[in-house]
Amino acid sequence: MGSDHAVERIVKKEILSCTPDTTVLEAARQMAQKRFSSIIVVEDGRPVGIWTERDALAIDFDRPDSFSRPIAAVMSHPIKTIHHKTSIGDTGLRFQMEGVRHFVVVDDAGHPLGIVSQSDVILRHGVEHFLVLRNVRSGLARPMVAIAGDCSLKRAVAQLNAARTDAAVVLPVDGGEPGIITERDLVRVIGAGGAVPAHVDEIASRPLVCISEDDSMLSARNLLEERQIRHVAVRNAEGKLTGLLSFSDILSSLQYEYVQRLDEALRERDEALLRSRKDLYLARKVIEASLDGIMICTPQGLIEFVNPAFSQLTGYSFEEVFGKNPNILKSGRHDEEFYKRMWATLGHEGVWQGEVWNRRKTGEIYPEWLTINVIRDDEGQISQYAAVFSDITERKKAEERIKNLAYFDVLTGLPNRRLFTDRLHMAIANAHRHDQRLAIMFLDLDLFKRINDTLGHGVGDLVLVESSKRLGQCVREGDTVARLGGDEFVILLPELDHIEDAAKLAERVISQVKAPFVIDEHELYVTTSVGIAVYPDDGQTVEQLIKNADTAMYRAKDLGRNSYQLYTSAMNARSFERLAMESSLRHALSRNEFTLVYQGKVDLVSGRLSGVEALVRWRHPDMGMVSPAEFIPLAENMGLIGDIGAWVLKAACRQCKSWHDLGLPPVRIAVNVSALQFREGDVPAIVEEALLESGLPPHYLELELTESVLMQRVEEVAQVLRELRQMGVHISIDDFGTGYSSLSYLKRMPIDALKIDRSFVHDLLDEGKVADGEGAEIVSTIINLAHNLRLRAVAEGVETQEQAEFLRARGCDEIQGFLVSRPVSGEDLVSLFDRNLLPPEPG
Ligand code: C2E
Ligand code: MG
Ligand code: MG
Repeated sequence: MGSDHAVERIVKKEILSCTPDTTVLEAARQMAQKRFSSIIVVEDGRPVGIWTERDALAIDFDRPDSFSRPIAAVMSHPIKTIHHKTSIGDTGLRFQMEGVRHFVVVDDAGHPLGIVSQSDVILRHGVEHFLVLRNVRSGLARPMVAIAGDCSLKRAVAQLNAARTDAAVVLPVDGGEPGIITERDLVRVIGAGGAVPAHVDEIASRPLVCISEDDSMLSARNLLEERQIRHVAVRNAEGKLTGLLSFSDILSSLQYEYVQRLDEALRERDEALLRSRKDLYLARKVIEASLDGIMICTPQGLIEFVNPAFSQLTGYSFEEVFGKNPNILKSGRHDEEFYKRMWATLGHEGVWQGEVWNRRKTGEIYPEWLTINVIRDDEGQISQYAAVFSDITERKKAEERIKNLAYFDVLTGLPNRRLFTDRLHMAIANAHRHDQRLAIMFLDLDLFKRINDTLGHGVGDLVLVESSKRLGQCVREGDTVARLGGDEFVILLPELDHIEDAAKLAERVISQVKAPFVIDEHELYVTTSVGIAVYPDDGQTVEQLIKNADTAMYRAKDLGRNSYQLYTSAMNARSFERLAMESSLRHALSRNEFTLVYQGKVDLVSGRLSGVEALVRWRHPDMGMVSPAEFIPLAENMGLIGDIGAWVLKAACRQCKSWHDLGLPPVRIAVNVSALQFREGDVPAIVEEALLESGLPPHYLELELTESVLMQRVEEVAQVLRELRQMGVHISIDDFGTGYSSLSYLKRMPIDALKIDRSFVHDLLDEGKVADGEGAEIVSTIINLAHNLRLRAVAEGVETQEQAEFLRARGCDEIQGFLVSRPVSGEDLVSLFDRNLLPPEPG
């Protein structure tokens, strides 16, 4: 039973009571009869005293009249009472402190409810454990008192009193079996009321109940309880009586342990109290000294406590906020959703942490780092909310500063390399996703080091700041200008529609930087070189693009500074125009921008017009006449050559037919067919269509092919050529001598003429020694070759009389070139018909 229970739960409700005038004899009689060890003397319903077996030892057994005295004269008083609600633990304490063996348990009105003895308390404390560990010997507190059997009662009582014991062994004079006398036997004598026996032997109890001194106290106690006796005799190993062990001996041995335990319990209780007081004190000190604001709210969310830091941070004193809702601190910066989530988190996790913008009493809004804890009581009910927060204004500012330092150049305020790289990463990802181009432009100020060295870093810095401003003015929103360090800048154009846009920007940047800088009365001239790299053409990664833009920038410097270069040389300046051309080339056909010019061929024997070559021209709205040498390769790349070629073929056939129709001497028209067109298009079909459409007889059409056509897929090509020849169309090999056509191929091809490339014709005139030049040898060889193969030889690019003479001397069949005519319009060509086109032979 726990020591917290009230003593009323263990009280012996059966009490023996009597009035104060009851005789000792009568009281003893009742006690002996009921085997009670005490009787309470009650007067007017209240206990006034108690008489116990122990008190029997005070009776004079030589004077039996004393038995008839009133109990009030011999009882112990005043009586010790204890309230029935006192805890068992506290009751134990009082037994200890007051040195008594019984308390009368009383109710609120003081009426006796029963008796509680020390043994009752002690035995309720789970003592078996102690009893089992101790032997009987250790419980023998006093030497054994042995009284001779023939001793008078009075003398026996005197011996007990002298030994301060309540029992003794009685040894018969005849050496018979020993017995025992106890207080209880004396009460019995008194209660019997007759004559007092003469010798103690007559009232001794027999047989003597014995136990070995090596037995445990627990077996002693069990024996006492079993036999309903209060004493047991103890024998040693030899069987000799060594003492009497009483219930109270057991109790007192337990008492030691019990008191120890009580002491311990008391000490623990005191220490815990002290500790918690100390903890509380400490907690209060910490809360008060904390630099963090602390606010405790009731489960209803009303403020019940704030610490000084709270007041300092918010500007509100405790009195101002006590009992208020913490929403007086709300800044209005967070929406309902924010607070809903906060409460939800508090609900299931018991804690919420985060950044909150709150408002001070002054109205100022500030950021705080807030932790809210839900505090619950033992039953799990919310008892409080505790909020701890710190002002993070400074931290946020520092973060911002660090972020700026980390991402921006201190001198110019431009993004630095890191931020630029970040943005480039993002721009690349974006361009990739949308299948777009982007450009980065690497630029560095030419000879900047010289400014630094001659005018000092201060001026150098100002030039950098000014330059960065000018760069900023050149770009559009969304572009990034960054400083990579030193005098190196970089510009990111995240969405590039046309590469020209990058080139235009580069030009703008160059001219902006070129304008004089006026710094400290110095007029400074700075130029810049720009390198451009385009994603994805020049690189797919940040590193590649920066590296290639850098390379292009160095190339611009090498080419004389103050200029820009694209990384891919194919995209550079000239070829850059080609890009512009590309887009307009796409529409050139539909916009009817192509036209044909014609150049005559003259028969070196007759001097008459022997044929006409059609040459395409592109009238570009901005660029003017564009040479086919420029746009034909482009058209081939763009897959436009088929359409353009078909248009040329049809237009040429039509033109030729119209000359015929005019009644002019019929000539053959030569049309250039690009190698690609020949390879990929169905040339015979287109030719047939053009002839049909124009009505030109096939043998008035000649196709000029380059050597390269003959060198690939020889069989197929030969087949196509045979087809064309069967139709009646003539074939000539253009620019002959520049390729590497092998003779064996040539033999197998159904062709009609070789056109000697104009570069050889041009070389005929080297150093004026016509016949000695290398060109002359090549030209002669080609003419011979042609004739050996039964082909006609035609010389292109004939510009002079001498060239013409040389060619005629070598047996060349026809010539073509400025000597005879420049390429002219269809109408203008008419004047060339029907007359001698060769200058008269010299002498
Ligand atoms: P090509 O077929 O060898 O054409 C002759 C080129 O030499 C023409 O240049 C012509 O203007 C030029 N030329 C004529 N006489 C002289 C001269 O005495 N001295 C010099 N220096 N040059 C002379 P053009 O018209 O610019 O054509 C260049 C090339 O473009 C042509 O070379 C031809 O390969 C190609 N081409 C021209 N028109 C067409 C066409 O309609 N279709 C295709 N596929 N290619 C064409
Ligand atoms: Mg040609
Ligand atoms: Mg040619």
